[in-house]
Amino acid sequence: MRIAHFQRIIDETYGERDAQRGLERTFMWLVEEVGELARALRGGDHRRMVEEFSDVLAWLTTTASLAGVDMEEAANRFGSGCPKCGERPCVCDSPRH
Ligand SMILES: [Zn+2]
Repeated sequence: MRIAHFQRIIDETYGERDAQRGLERTFMWLVEEVGELARALRGGDHRRMVEEFSDVLAWLTTTASLAGVDMEEAANRFGSGCPKCGERPCVCDSPRH
């Protein structure tokens, strides 16, 4: 599934409710879901990890929509490798900053 398609589905599914909740409170839900992902990673159950990764992705995506950010555009920053050095694999001293 393309990222833009995923963002459109999330918008159609939750966009109205998320807009009513607002950006700040939706972002707090994202942070809570990241905490649940941390617990799933420690637990080691694969099915649970898939669920929590998908929840984090959905909350990240809906937060981006509320902020007016196109997730396809965001992902494209890494479309050719490291956005800083342009290499694959990255040769930066401290990657992803
Ligand atoms: Zn790099």
